[in-house]
Amino acid sequence: NATIYDDDDADSTALDGKTVAVMGYGSQGHAHAQNLDDSGVDVVVGLREGSSSRDAAREDGLDVTTPVDAAAQADIVSVLVPDTVQPDLYEQIRGELDEGDTLQFAHGFNIHFGQIEPDEGVDVTMIAPKGPGHIVRRDYERGEGTPGLLAVYRDSTGEAWDEALAYGQAIGCTRAGVIETSFREETETDLFGEQAVLCGGVTELIKMGYETLVDAGYSPEMAYFECLNEMKLIVDLMYEGGLGGMWDSVSDTAEFGGLTRGDVVVDDHARENMETVLEQVQQGEFAREWITENQANRPSYNQLRNAEKNHEIEAVGERLRGLFAWAEEPDETADETEEE
Ligand code: NDP
Ligand code: MG
Ligand code: MG
Repeated sequence: NATIYDDDDADSTALDGKTVAVMGYGSQGHAHAQNLDDSGVDVVVGLREGSSSRDAAREDGLDVTTPVDAAAQADIVSVLVPDTVQPDLYEQIRGELDEGDTLQFAHGFNIHFGQIEPDEGVDVTMIAPKGPGHIVRRDYERGEGTPGLLAVYRDSTGEAWDEALAYGQAIGCTRAGVIETSFREETETDLFGEQAVLCGGVTELIKMGYETLVDAGYSPEMAYFECLNEMKLIVDLMYEGGLGGMWDSVSDTAEFGGLTRGDVVVDDHARENMETVLEQVQQGEFAREWITENQANRPSYNQLRNAEKNHEIEAVGERLRGLFAWAEEPDETADETEEE
């Protein structure tokens, strides 16, 4: 079982006298920078000239400069620009990373798959909050915290662990719990989860259910509600009380039907396919495909995105969501549904 650290395990003095450069001011960047600042840590935000996020960071009361300048001032460089941009950014700031400095990530992709190979003497760590940035910020402001992952890839100074845990504390993660992992485990489980279950698996399940009903002559509106809209209600129940909490809340009929038919739909073929997807992640096949795709300016990605946008369920959903007030309410939970 994984070790979980909390506030009592962290020692904030590990950040004493240190400056953190937060690269990027998007989802994670704005949350880390503001939480660190509120925790009394010296922060500087690194953004390219003409960056659209510069004004936002300044309005939030933070020091903003170029990535190279920020890295020059920093003892810890927190890399929070998009993963596909990180190797380029690293080459720009590489000369500013001195022996004993730390390069910190919120996802392991570029280190694990060798897209960034930090020079000797630089510590390499990860604090990865398990939630989008606006939740990391909101939890912190409420005196709560978002759970996070901690990994150390290289510890040249002997201080990498304490420093990373103190950073996790400063952004609020230890208030909830910080789980120890490795760059490899975080990267591979993250990619597998989003491909097989969360983003890829769920959308295919929804579309297939919808198409099956509509092809059989049922109305698109009914199919939308049954296969997409109600997904949230079921997921909320599982989030709160696990699978058992969900089964307890649905009708006995739904429970019996689900328990007898679920594995008819998602059968051993699906398991074999999941194993294939996992192997492609583990062997770096997916990473190579994604890196090549980006180098070629994303031809398949753009095509697949368009096809998904043009699926009939999207038009049906847009019309239905427009009819209902709940979609308009500035509901607190609405923004929580956004995934990475
Ligand atoms: P975002 O897409 O929100 O980052 C946007 C920021 O990066 C902006 O400030 C943008 O500034 C800057 N940026 C974009 N392109 C460039 C570029 N070419 N050069 C310099 N700066 C650029 O990133 P996320 O916060 O989503 O992700 C950051 C890291 O956190 C990633 O490693 C991700 O995997 C990880 N992570 C993300 C989670 C999430 O929920 N979002 C959850 C956990 C981890 P500009 O205005 O100049 O474009
Ligand atoms: Mg991910
Ligand atoms: Mg994820």
